[in-house]
Amino acid sequence: MSNNKKIYLDNNSTTPCDPRVVDTMIPYFYEMPGNAASRSHPFGWQAEEAVDYAREQIANLIEVDSKEVIFTSGATEADNLAIKGVFEMYAKKGNHIITLTTEHKAVLDSCKKVERMGGEVTYVEVERDGLVDLKKLEAAITDKTILISVMWANNETGVIQPMKEIGDLCAKHGVLFMSDATQAVGKIPVNPKEVGVHLMAFTSHKMYGPKGVGALFVNRKNPRVKVTSQIDGGGHERGMRSGTLNVPGIVGFGKAAEIAKKEMKQDGERLSKLRDKLEAAMKAKLEEVYVNGNVDSRMPHVTNISFKHVEGEGLMMTFNQNIAVSSGSACTSASLEPSYVLIALGLGDDLAHSSIRFSLGRFTTDEEIDDTIELISNGVNHMRDLSPIWEMYKEGVDIDAIEWSEH
Ligand SMILES: *Cc1c(COP(=O)(O)O)cnc(C)c1O
Repeated sequence: MSNNKKIYLDNNSTTPCDPRVVDTMIPYFYEMPGNAASRSHPFGWQAEEAVDYAREQIANLIEVDSKEVIFTSGATEADNLAIKGVFEMYAKKGNHIITLTTEHKAVLDSCKKVERMGGEVTYVEVERDGLVDLKKLEAAITDKTILISVMWANNETGVIQPMKEIGDLCAKHGVLFMSDATQAVGKIPVNPKEVGVHLMAFTSHKMYGPKGVGALFVNRKNPRVKVTSQIDGGGHERGMRSGTLNVPGIVGFGKAAEIAKKEMKQDGERLSKLRDKLEAAMKAKLEEVYVNGNVDSRMPHVTNISFKHVEGEGLMMTFNQNIAVSSGSACTSASLEPSYVLIALGLGDDLAHSSIRFSLGRFTTDEEIDDTIELISNGVNHMRDLSPIWEMYKEGVDIDAIEWSEH
């Protein structure tokens, strides 16, 4: 392949906009610049109409009433609004929230804030395959529990939680059920009402829409759920989220939802074939390759693979001029930390550091996957050829049994 090819396999971080989305947005920057809250002239009415239409498109995608869609700046804000908003609104009922150790930081850090505000949070550990054990989840419920927050699909592994079963558990105990469904909405069928989810966060830029716009679904009937606003001023979005609406962004989000509704099935089928091809080729060409997380309950476009005895960040350096992926290491201020999600699955630091997340998308081609297979397997072989640990492993030394000195 030519050296200046750029292959984007980091769609779980963000997706490119679909050109059809951008085309729909453009008039709202120029000819129709109105504020959706301006009630006294046609510019305002046009903007309001456009927002209403987008709200319908989004509600239609997740099969809810459009009155139940609250626009935010993204999923981070929607997660914050759901968790802190429920904590404040239901303070009389209880102060306990349950979530998982593998949640997104937007949920975990909101929960930490709740703890600082006097709440109690239980972080339930997941099983080796990334799925929650329903018995452990149920055992965490107390008479003070007001909310269970479980993400629909994990951003690092693509593992899909048993949403219906968790919804039944919440109904049985009279607890609200919140889900960060950012990685699932627009890619697989997501219907919160069907599974008993009462609050659901998602975002436009993970489904081929623009960045900086997202939504929180808030159930309005049986039960009528309320959240305390976290951003005040003007009373937009039924008083739950003030601030001038991002009209072009919302229009784009709506169009992205409409396209997703029509195309997610064919996209998913095509991408799961490409993903499976990538996985199969890695296993066929390389030794000591492990796929992380449950492979039966998983998003169609994601694979998280550990290449044992290869350091993921170093491996990425061999191909990152051509391929964009994510590694299982996160840069903190002082060091490279292994992904807390993979550690929660029981991987050791070494396997977590040796992992790469490939997330395919609507614009990924067959040819790109063929090129990726070649570049990644070359990179892994190159790293292993240089590695004394790999040499020891090949000589039959039990690497895992060695205790490395700190010096
Ligand atoms: C990307 C992501 C978010 C954050 O969404 P923003 O719109 O960027 O704030 C939250 N949760 C999950 C699971 C995500 O993947």
